[in-house]
Amino acid sequence: MNTQALGTELTSDKALDLLREGNLRFVSNIRMNRNFHEEVEATKEGQEPFAVVISCMDSRTSPELVFDRGLGDIFSIRLAGNVVTPEVIGSVEYACAAVGSKAVVVLGHTGCGAIKGTLAKVQLGKLPTITARIAECISDEVCPDVVTEKNVLAGMRALEEESTVLRELLHQEKIKIIGGIYDITTGKVSFMDHAHPRHS
Ligand SMILES: [Zn+2]
Repeated sequence: MNTQALGTELTSDKALDLLREGNLRFVSNIRMNRNFHEEVEATKEGQEPFAVVISCMDSRTSPELVFDRGLGDIFSIRLAGNVVTPEVIGSVEYACAAVGSKAVVVLGHTGCGAIKGTLAKVQLGKLPTITARIAECISDEVCPDVVTEKNVLAGMRALEEESTVLRELLHQEKIKIIGGIYDITTGKVSFMDHAHPRHS
């Protein structure tokens, strides 16, 4: 089912449930049998994506696939290392304040090349604009899994601290911002927030 029909009834908690349930289907290999022609028809007049997912450009982490969603369901923002730049924040503001998306997920993943490149201090063209941002959230940390998680938490913090628009929507409980780590070996997304990080 496309979420167009759910409209304004959808709460941020329900939006997160839709993502959790979709990932469970993906992991269980019982994905919905979608009719993309019908979804094109259902979304041709407009869109009401219930979620925004900020994920890595990694070819194994496509949000629509790993959350088993269809056309018109997810605003997908993808940059190497799922970094939260001002441009990303502006996109999330548009999604939540102008269109009405309810859930925002900063989605890191295991085996991330951008995290490895940051730790290896790779210098390539303009890539340091990404790795420098990731490096900001680590000190002497060298474990890729921990850096991945800290990078997700830093992205969540940037959304909250650098956007008055998103802070206001959070305060009004109209949106939720959550973190997640996608495991490329299992297909499972583990959700987390500042109070419940995966690593202490
Ligand atoms: Zn990556």
